This record gives sequence, C-alpha cells and structure tokens, in this order.
Amino acid sequence: MVEFQPSIAIIGSGPAGCYTAQFLRKEWPHAEICVFEALPVPYGLLRYGVAADHQGTKAVAAQFDRLFERENVRFAGNVAVGKNLAFEELASNFDIVVLATGLNSDRGLTAEVDPSSRVLGAGSLLKALNGHPEVDLPLLPNGALTPLGERLAVVGNGNVAMDTIRILSKPLHNFQGSDVDDKRLSELRAERVRSIDVFGRSPISNAKFDLSMLKEILHLPSVTIGVTGLTEALEGCQRYQLLSQHESPASDGVSDSRVRVTFHFEADPLCVSKRGDRSLLTVRRSTQDLPSEFEVDTIITATGFENKHCEAATGNVEDWVGKNVFRTGWLSRNGKGTVAENRREAKAVSQAIITQFKAGDLPVCAKGFAAIEKTIEPYVVDFRGWKNIDSHELATANPDRCRRKITDVPKMLSIAAPSKFGQQAKSGNMIRMV
Ligand SMILES: Cc1cc2nc3c(=O)[nH]c(=O)nc-3n(C[C@H](O)[C@H](O)[C@H](O)COP(=O)(O)OP(=O)(O)OC[C@H]3O[C@@H](n4cnc5c(N)ncnc54)[C@H](O)[C@@H]3O)c2cc1C
Repeated sequence: MVEFQPSIAIIGSGPAGCYTAQFLRKEWPHAEICVFEALPVPYGLLRYGVAADHQGTKAVAAQFDRLFERENVRFAGNVAVGKNLAFEELASNFDIVVLATGLNSDRGLTAEVDPSSRVLGAGSLLKALNGHPEVDLPLLPNGALTPLGERLAVVGNGNVAMDTIRILSKPLHNFQGSDVDDKRLSELRAERVRSIDVFGRSPISNAKFDLSMLKEILHLPSVTIGVTGLTEALEGCQRYQLLSQHESPASDGVSDSRVRVTFHFEADPLCVSKRGDRSLLTVRRSTQDLPSEFEVDTIITATGFENKHCEAATGNVEDWVGKNVFRTGWLSRNGKGTVAENRREAKAVSQAIITQFKAGDLPVCAKGFAAIEKTIEPYVVDFRGWKNIDSHELATANPDRCRRKITDVPKMLSIAAPSKFGQQAKSGNMIRMV
C-alpha cells in the first residue's frame, strides 16, 4: 500500500522556502508541494538582496531550479498570499503550510531622525541595484534616482554594510560578470563618492562583518582606509590587524580620487538632523566625552530588517497561525543569517513537520492545489513562465554583465506568458516615491 503523503504549501520562494521544499521532497517523493511567490520570479533575496557582484552566492539558484524542473515541485509565481489568495483559503486546503516570507523592509534607526534629512535603508539600496521592480528610494522629478552625493555615512557594521560600502566605492568599470542594474548604479553614483564613514556600536572585536567581506573592501585600489574608536587590547584581533595594515592618513580629498572609508567603532548614533542641504549625524563615541557631528549627503542604515507595509498589501503574517502552520528562514530568525543558515533551519523545521505528521498530530486530507487553482488562475506564473523571463534576461544582458533584470512587473508578465498577460504590459512599473 502506498503511504499517504500530505499536500504542502510553502509561502515564499527565497532560500528558506526552497530548502524546505527540498527536504520535504526527500521524505515524501509523491507529495504535492507547491511554492507560492508574490513576484513573478523566484528566489527572494538570493536574486534581490545578495549583492549583484557576488554571483558565486547566487549560483545556488541552479540547485533550486532542479526542484521545479525535475522534482515535481510546483512554482506558483505572482501570487501574493493575503492579496491574491486569502491565507485562510490556502491553509484550509493544504495539509501543511510553511511560512517562508522573509522580512520586507529595513529596520531603520532607533535614534531620533528629522524626516527632512536623507536617510535610506541599505536593503532598499541593494534591492534597487539588484533590479527589484519596487524601488523604495527618493526620485528626481524626471524619475531618475536621486544621487547619493559625495559624502556618505553607513550606520551598522555587518555584512550588508560591507556590501553597501563595496558597491558604492568600487570603480564603475569593475562590475564585470555581475547583474548590477547599471542605470540605477550610475544614477545613484552620479556624483563622485568621496567619503564613507561607517559607524558600529560594538568594539572592533565584536564587529559583525566577516573578514572576507572586509578584505574585499581593503583590496579595492579605489579606497583608502581610516579607523577610529579602538579602545581595547587588540593582540590577536584579525580585524584590527587587517585594518591597521591598510590604514593611511587622510589626504586633502581634492587631488585624491579614491574613496576615503573610515570605520568608527564604539560609535552610537544619537540623532539625525538637517544642516543646510546636508544631513547631520550626531554620534556618541566611547573615546570622547562630547558627541561628534558628521555632515553628510546621505545616511544609509544597515541595522537589520523587519516587516513593514505588510498590513495593507497582504495582511499581517503574524496572524497566520494554525496547527498545520510552520515558519522558517528570516521570518522566524528576525532577519538573521546567511543562505547556508536557512538550509540548516529548513532541515530542522522539515524534521519537526515529518515527526508531527508521523505521530498523527496534524489534521490531514486537504484537497491541495486543485482546490485553489481557480482562485489564482488569473495571476499565476508557472515555472515555465519564469524560465521565459530568465532566458530573456540572459539573452539581453549587456556586454560584461551576466544578466539584465527586467524591473517592471507587467513586462515580466508579458514575457512569462504573452497570451495570458499581453494586455497588462501596457501599465507602468512600480516605482514608489519616498
Ligand atoms: C542585502 C543583502 C545581502 C545579502 N548577502 C548575502 C550573502 O552574500 N550571502 C549569504 O549567504 N546571505 C546573504 N544575505 C542573506 C540571505 O539573503 C538571506 O539569508 C535569505 O535570503 C533569507 O531567506 P528567506 O527565504 O527567509 O527570505 P527571502 O529571501 O526574503 O524570501 C522570502 C520570499 O517570500 C516572498 N513573499 C513574501 N510575502 C509573500 C506572500 N504574502 N505571498 C507570497 N510570497 C511572499 C518574497 O517575495 C520573497 O521572495 C543577504 C541579505 C541581504 C538583505
């Protein structure tokens, strides 16, 4: 007798959702597994977060492709659960539901911020440079992205901060083999970046960035390095050794075309205000009694992620609960961890699901995809549709680039399935002014 195998819905096609599909498929070769994704394209922050010049990390997408191509996992793209399909309808029609929806927004500063100052999230910036269809950055009246300016501050010193610094200080001709959005990159860097001051609350020994990420910056011929806020005994601290090897005195900044990147440790933002055309970041430093002021054009926050705008768009994921509902990935880990960490967690969550299912703890026998097919039919982009988009992006890549991402959802749809979505291609894209 064939063992009964459950119907499984996974919401979110980022690394967490895809790894969970992989582990559950291993256990249940014949189970119906469907991955729902709000965008017409899969893989979440692997496509839109991981920096455009880190193609090695993005290559794990080929492994996920095989799930949909060979292992009979269904991709239901362009279906935002909570908007195109009610969560309750989904949850009542699948035996098991896994939430892998990630976190959609930058967390921002806890310090007081004058709303007229220029503060952007690093996640929004890197998403835009990764060709995300929804751009959450300030625009000029002509629709171009507002240039970041010459003097920048980055708050936070994890790996997302390091990606930001690298992308903004690397020579524009050094993005070979990437899929960076060249138009947006040159708009944001329309003015030559002269300095980036990087503020981390922790001492250097506890800074969150990986050494490999720091090394990439230190090896750029286009940067010079400064460091402040070193208060500890630092023998044996590799970060300190590396930074001090590369540290050099600041030049006048006029004749030197390199970007001055200064790492400030034990520096805590107190407030952001406006001074003339610029933004003023005031920080408290453990080495000084009085706060220090930094006048910059743009402040970029790399201080973590959270879910915002969600209520209006898809309802509140916090309300999506039930005996058959599980969570994984950035949603469950509060925006922490690498792609590999999602794999480890997906394995543990899958194991918990399998154990509960085998113990008879989960209600089963829901109808699965057939029950919701009609509801999502007007929207759904299947895996073949994504492959049409993928081929188009690869075929239209500029010389020296591996892909040219389509940044407009209606255009994606018309390429995914021209006979189904052709008419929708006429509407505009999804740029949001902030
Ligand atoms: C800027 C940046 C750089 C990074 N660089 C690296 C790196 O170099 N190396 C590394 O290992 N890790 C990196 N990471 C971390 C990595 O991207 C995350 O660990 C991983 O993407 C989290 O996976 P996830 O599946 O939980 O979430 P996500 O990747 O965010 O995927 C969630 C998916 O769910 C979809 N979704 C959300 N709501 C709904 C809904 N209601 N209905 C349907 N679908 C929905 C979203 O559209 C999205 O596709 C980086 C992260 C960022 C932000």
